[in-house]
Amino acid sequence: NGSTEKAPPLHIINIAVEMAPIAKVGGLADVVTSLSRAISDFGHHVEIILPMYSFFNSSPLLGAREFETNFDFGGCGITVTKCRVEGVMVFFVEPSNGMFARDAVYGWNDDASRFNFFCNAALEFLLKTGRQPDILHCHDWSTAEVARAHWENYHHNGLWKPKVAFTIHNMNYGQAKLGEAAFHSQMTTTVSPSYAGEVSGHPAVSGNLHKFHGVRNGIDPEIWNPATDNFIPMKYDADSVVKGKKAARDELRSRLGLTGYGDKPVVGVISRLTAQKGIHLIKHAAHHTLSRGGQFVLLGSAPDPKVQADFNGLGAQLGGEDAGFFFAFDETLSRLMYAGCDVIVVPSMFEPCGLTQMTAMRYGTVPCVRATGGLRDTVFDVDTDKARAAWEINASTNWELDGENGDCTNGFSFEGTSEGDLDYALDRCIDAFWNDTKWFRSLQARVMRQDWTWNKPALEYIDLYYQSIGK
Ligand code: ADP
Repeated sequence: NGSTEKAPPLHIINIAVEMAPIAKVGGLADVVTSLSRAISDFGHHVEIILPMYSFFNSSPLLGAREFETNFDFGGCGITVTKCRVEGVMVFFVEPSNGMFARDAVYGWNDDASRFNFFCNAALEFLLKTGRQPDILHCHDWSTAEVARAHWENYHHNGLWKPKVAFTIHNMNYGQAKLGEAAFHSQMTTTVSPSYAGEVSGHPAVSGNLHKFHGVRNGIDPEIWNPATDNFIPMKYDADSVVKGKKAARDELRSRLGLTGYGDKPVVGVISRLTAQKGIHLIKHAAHHTLSRGGQFVLLGSAPDPKVQADFNGLGAQLGGEDAGFFFAFDETLSRLMYAGCDVIVVPSMFEPCGLTQMTAMRYGTVPCVRATGGLRDTVFDVDTDKARAAWEINASTNWELDGENGDCTNGFSFEGTSEGDLDYALDRCIDAFWNDTKWFRSLQARVMRQDWTWNKPALEYIDLYYQSIGK
């Protein structure tokens, strides 16, 4: 609505329990950081409030924190410190009862009550220090409590100004809390238009569809940039993609212990190994890639020990000449994976947005995905999606239609959930590589030129923020 030019800049405070790179579990962490940076780039004042986890004390990623304030809350002393992370001011809330003196973000029986306490302490901090942001933006079940507590306890007691924005990054966790926040917030978003459609009948949001929007996530083009990335052997852009990816591919092979060389397609997976991510299809992709003469690499970790044991077995069986498995959460290695792979497979059973396919494209890696949620909104099959790609890419990114002859397709996709369904896409992808490697390399350059940043979606958020405050 053009309001971004006329209206005064907004003050937005994100309240979250994850933030990349200092407290990253999944995509939520990336989004809290990159959305904040993108909205700031448009001239708004954005800050973040996080719990002060004890693992921050030994984090090489976090600079010195400065004292901000302390106060008493519900019989507990709260200390707030601050530090800039990736250019954004972050306030760290530390209760004296040791509630966040843990070595990970999630995983305890009292997660829900700890995060509820954090949400209330964050509001108390704003009240005590006289801050009146325009927007409190909370994320997923873990900070859903902000919406309820703000309107029930704080708005009438001095925190008069803020409106509440709520983003659902995954509908499958903490559904009662999601519904409560969707009810109390002025705007609720989820992270892609397709996922918004898929979950619109869900009781958590179905009563509030008039203020429910699907805005696709973006990636941060500075944090993920093969032209400046210090963790890959040769920096590259779309013009030098062939050389750059070859250097990365060779280093990746040696890091993961692959002894097979040559111009074989390297197919990769970077994922939490959970049911959502399509475990049976990830395993099948490993076998199938090898049977088609390709190489398979996986960076992942499974929270469920049974699943992990299963993958350990697969690694022992297939690892060696043409396959390598690395079981850890390792962002540095993920950069070498994004650069060194030719193809990334994302066979999710459902996927609210998914960042791996967009990050992969930024590094010239061709996505091969199941067409669900945000994967459907960002990956356009080279054989079947030409018209949809031209239309959607034009509408949803700032990228001009400069694909070859207007061809903006960027990957391979499949609909079903069976191994045969995955093969339909993966076979076409590997065939394309073997039959016309030159064309495949040009596709890698094409996907690198597409714009999956926040350039466009940040403007949608800004419009929604202004609508929430009635401007
Ligand atoms: P989700 O949030 O469901 O895990 P997303 O695709 O939204 O899925 O985000 C996943 C993020 O986590 C991406 O930034 C991806 O690169 C990263 N990631 C996933 N697994 C690993 C891993 N084992 N090591 C490093 N980064 C990982």
